[in-house]
Amino acid sequence: MFVRRGQTRPTLTRWSLPLHAVLLSPPLVFALSTIPGVRPHEGYSFLLDGLLNNLAYESAAALCLLRTLQIAGPRRGGYLLSAALAVYGSGNVFWTIFVRPLPDQPYPSGADVGFLLFYPSIFVSLILLAQRRDARHARSLWLDGVVGGLAVGAVAAAAVIGPIVSASGSWAAVATTSAYPALDLVLLLVLAAVLSLYGWRPPKGLWLLAAGLVVFVVADLAYLFETAQGTYTSGGPTDGVWVLGVVLMGFTPGWPSAPSGPRLPGWALLSIPVLSTLVALAVFVVDHLHPLHPVAVALAAAVVLSALGRLLFTFREVTRLAEHRELAMTDELTGLGNRRALYRRTPELLAAAGPDTPVALLLLDLDGFKEVNDSLGHQAGDSLLRDVARRLREVADAPDTVVARLGGDEFAIARIGAGFAPAQELADAIHESLMQAYTLEGVQVRARTSIGISVLPVGSAELPTLLRQADVAMYHAKTRHLGTFAYTVDVDEFASGERLETAELLRADIAARRLLLHYQPKVDVATGAVDSVEALVRWQHPRRGLLMPDAFLPVVETAGLMEDLTRAVLEQALDQAAAWWRAGRPLAIAVNLSASSLGDQDLPDRVSKMLTERQLPARLLEIEITEDFLMVDRERAQGILEGLRARGIRIAVDDYGTGYSSLAYLRELPIDDLKLDKSFLTDLMADTRALAIVQSTIMLAHSLGLRLVAEGVEDEATSRELAAAGCDVLQGWLYAKALPAHELERWLTEHDPSAVANRPLTTPVLTASPGGPS
Ligand code: C2E
Ligand code: CA
Ligand code: CA
Repeated sequence: MFVRRGQTRPTLTRWSLPLHAVLLSPPLVFALSTIPGVRPHEGYSFLLDGLLNNLAYESAAALCLLRTLQIAGPRRGGYLLSAALAVYGSGNVFWTIFVRPLPDQPYPSGADVGFLLFYPSIFVSLILLAQRRDARHARSLWLDGVVGGLAVGAVAAAAVIGPIVSASGSWAAVATTSAYPALDLVLLLVLAAVLSLYGWRPPKGLWLLAAGLVVFVVADLAYLFETAQGTYTSGGPTDGVWVLGVVLMGFTPGWPSAPSGPRLPGWALLSIPVLSTLVALAVFVVDHLHPLHPVAVALAAAVVLSALGRLLFTFREVTRLAEHRELAMTDELTGLGNRRALYRRTPELLAAAGPDTPVALLLLDLDGFKEVNDSLGHQAGDSLLRDVARRLREVADAPDTVVARLGGDEFAIARIGAGFAPAQELADAIHESLMQAYTLEGVQVRARTSIGISVLPVGSAELPTLLRQADVAMYHAKTRHLGTFAYTVDVDEFASGERLETAELLRADIAARRLLLHYQPKVDVATGAVDSVEALVRWQHPRRGLLMPDAFLPVVETAGLMEDLTRAVLEQALDQAAAWWRAGRPLAIAVNLSASSLGDQDLPDRVSKMLTERQLPARLLEIEITEDFLMVDRERAQGILEGLRARGIRIAVDDYGTGYSSLAYLRELPIDDLKLDKSFLTDLMADTRALAIVQSTIMLAHSLGLRLVAEGVEDEATSRELAAAGCDVLQGWLYAKALPAHELERWLTEHDPSAVANRPLTTPVLTASPGGPS
């Protein structure tokens, strides 16, 4: 071939229309001539049946070739179809020239070779067409084709085979005669299969081929009928129908290959096996009344069997599909739905609810999950997530609720029909359940959760909006330690727009050591003297002014900047301590260490190096850790703390008594100070139980050789009470807020130690034994 595949011939395109007209005229004229009453006289006409009929067949083949050459795509199927039509036409030519003139026409003859050769070539071109389809649902569709084809075959056999075979003749004649309907049957079968492969939305050309084949088969059957009954006449309507079928086939190439028509709904596809089975049943019923040819009954039985097979196959396919769907929508770790499930199921539930029904979305984020992962390892992190998922399911699972893990330690719960109050209740229930301790790798761990709530009426609720609002609310809850926060517009702007920017600003300011440290004095109850201060970090935001730690530490945490911040605070605090030390003021500074610093095994060495660089005695540094620090990984924490203490650094346990841990660790760990959480002081004056707790805690601390520090002391009465109870150190606004270094210096010069030293003489038996380096 001199035309490369993919090219079209411009000349052909220009001549396309006239060529079509020329090639279509013989078959159309011939077909018209076969309409009863049109012919001038009955019987064989040389002009019509000898010439025009043969010309019509060859024109159809030529038309097919012309259209094939005009297309740009692969042409194999088109060439083959042209060949099939040409072969069929040549059978007709052979019959006209060599068989018809014979006085005793042989049957079968050479003409039948041409006619029969038509089948394999058309089969191959059909298969070629079918191969172009990707085989995703190929099998079930093929089965549909088989079922449908068998059903058509059963009907055809019931109607035709009986009468045909009863006509006597030689074995070869009977075989040939049976071959046509059998091959037609197979042809219909393959055709149905190919069409079903396209989901019954084949390219238009394929519909033409199908139509042509059906017309052709109809003519075949009519011919068989007529010959069996001796009513066939040359040039009759059957000849015309044959030609029309062949012309339709010739039109096949050159149609756009895009699927035609609307996609059929699922039930339409299933209707093929169902209808086919009904047809088969009809054949059985008819056979019962009027015995049909065994082939027809056998075919009907085959329909039922194959329809059954199709059903089983569909069942398997559907279960597998459901499994895939299930897998695709399930979070592997926890078995909850995943983000996809949330996106799929929530709109489904929304669609089923009235427009005014409220929908609540709760977004959960575990606090400090990263620490668990970093310190206890991923396995512990995974098992924590599984536990959380299990509890969430227990608390929240319901038919109108989607519980999903969005990734990491983030979970979402969508509940249809829940307004603000039920959402808040749900959040409370979740907090309560998730607050219970988890046992991971033999370690008891507690995890707090921040929950953001978004509530919208279903009518205006879009999942992305819900998620965004809940995210904003969750972030707000996290930053403010609110536990739960329901979305309001006024918190939105900062949370969504500035979060990223905030992290970047922080990163830069931490790196440049531009964080501000304020210092809050700790007052010794016995002497009233101030020999240590706590460094509390502040951040000067370019627009929002001076920010307290609660406003930006969560950003530091989530941006993974906590280790950098700790290092920066340590350096700046030690710089300040060194300055005071050189100025003749030996003031110890306490630095807060977040639980994230647990990842840093080299901390003791690094801190000790910082001290030597500044020629500072180690006793001028105190590290404050919270109980979380201990909870996440006891052994690791113990290692780091021992390392620090071995170098002479003091250790304090901050926020003591917030209820997170056992007392057991107090004995095992190297601790100097216990800082009673300020929440205990709130009711100290009114609540005798609170006082009892404080008193017993002080006793406990002392019995373990620890100093007890009370923080958050705001008034005289409380300070007196604490002093009476045996508290060693007091810290709080009563004395001073956290102050910049120079303001603290002024405060120190004005501070009157005697005003504090009102500790009663009746101290507990076990007095404070300040730890310090041994
Ligand atoms: P904290 O370590 O428990 O610090 C004590 C907090 O109580 C400080 O809040 C302090 O200003 C406040 N406070 C002091 N006296 C009183 C009082 O009489 N009444 C009341 N109501 N509050 C008082 P601040 O500075 O906002 O710090 C909050 C938390 O931020 C700290 O709690 C600490 O956990 C964290 N933080 C502060 N600086 C750092 C730091 O450099 N690194 C790390 N990792 N965390 C820090
Ligand atoms: Ca502290
Ligand atoms: Ca504290």
